[in-house]
Amino acid sequence: MEQDKIFERLMQLVIRYYHDRDQGKFVDYLDPGTLRQRLGLEDERGRGDWDALFTWVEHYLAHAVNTSNPAYLNRMWAGANLPSVVGEVIAAVTNTSACTFETAPVSTLMEKYLLQAMLDLVGFQGGCGQMTTGSSNANMLAMMAARNGLRPEVKQQGLFGGQKLFALVNADAHYSMDRAANILGLGTSHLLKIPVDGHGRMRIDALEERLAEVVAGGGKPFFVVATAGTTVRGGYDLLEPLLALRERYRFWLHVDGAWGGAVIFSDRLRRQFLPALEQADSFTLDFHKMLGTALMCNVLLFNRRPSFLREVCSAGDESYIFRQGEDGEIRDLGTLSLQCGRRVDSLKWFLDWKFYGREGLAERVEHYLELCRYAEDQVGRLPELEMVVPRESFNVCFRFRPPEGIPAEPFNKALRERMHRSGRALVGTGYVNGQLVLRLLITNINVGKPEIDRFFQSVIATGRELLAERSGRP
Ligand SMILES: *Cc1c(COP(=O)(O)O)cnc(C)c1O
Repeated sequence: MEQDKIFERLMQLVIRYYHDRDQGKFVDYLDPGTLRQRLGLEDERGRGDWDALFTWVEHYLAHAVNTSNPAYLNRMWAGANLPSVVGEVIAAVTNTSACTFETAPVSTLMEKYLLQAMLDLVGFQGGCGQMTTGSSNANMLAMMAARNGLRPEVKQQGLFGGQKLFALVNADAHYSMDRAANILGLGTSHLLKIPVDGHGRMRIDALEERLAEVVAGGGKPFFVVATAGTTVRGGYDLLEPLLALRERYRFWLHVDGAWGGAVIFSDRLRRQFLPALEQADSFTLDFHKMLGTALMCNVLLFNRRPSFLREVCSAGDESYIFRQGEDGEIRDLGTLSLQCGRRVDSLKWFLDWKFYGREGLAERVEHYLELCRYAEDQVGRLPELEMVVPRESFNVCFRFRPPEGIPAEPFNKALRERMHRSGRALVGTGYVNGQLVLRLLITNINVGKPEIDRFFQSVIATGRELLAERSGRP
């Protein structure tokens, strides 16, 4: 049958791609104009033609960024775990929506099982949770829950004319907080950004001052976010002083662990980075970042409020789709969600969870931290490089140190660009205290000490090249 051949052909391509994934360059870089031409996107041929279809697939693969390649050190995720890739393929082949038990019986039970396992791991009692489309969405949902928890009438009446609500976050918090403030009718000027200390953590004195100011001005500080692993710098906000402030101000304390929340799998790292997490009101974690599950894969957990997600999310006439379980039990996860169609994300996470186990994931995260320590040591050892700020956790914020008289920012930007276009390596950038940093992130199981050494050598070689060109030498 034709479809058997198609699957064979597909699997051959997949096998070939996967086999070479940690070899060669991480990308065959073309600028957007050239790539557009190369792809021939307007080509009309190919209707009903499988050969033509596979040519498109080959084009795609030829210029895809190989995120499993150890030179891909750019983002908080890299090549996915193989068990989760298996899950993705099955989810694509079976194509269903995880919004009802009827359409997704197995994934619904897997998701419920996983949510309970995660609630137990975090230590949330009698809570509830949801797999969302990522931490951006989870952060918004947590803010929405805090808003509606405080002002249940907002669901019907909106925010018009009420007391002003304020959310307070680390100045380095993820931009999804600003977007949430926009979407939820707060307005971004009611998202207060708290300056950080030398470790990239919210300054508690500054937070306290802002809280008092808001209250004195007649506003309500309803939502405070602790970031567990800030995106650029890797700072962990201290939870204990925030919990003490919560006693006084009665806000909702959300922990954004999109990146650094992965420490919960290791008892040792959890004690070091996230003590008292079990007392927060909500927590989000991306499985698709440090833990390596295929994109997108996230969980949002609420402490104590077992039916809260439903209260917050459900609205409108759902009678055509959702059914009550016997004894009023929630059977359809779509009732707890802001989406209608939901991707089956539970399968890939379930397969990773069973395959690696909690210990395996803990070892992975501990190993990454060890490699980050190694990377920081190497930066200290190599005279061409310098740390811009000391490492707080998993983020290594360094740069090439150009000679006197050459400004570091444009030089490092050019260096990064050169490394990208030549396919040598891709490393992230960001700003810490107004200074550009190269942000090295290790989230790839194919990266070990030799790959880190090779990366730094390649940074140094590229820097030297740029310096040689500047001085007009070949
Ligand atoms: C990555 C990140 C997010 C956004 O997560 P997505 O899953 O990409 O939406 C939010 N917060 C922090 C701290 C992050 O690092």
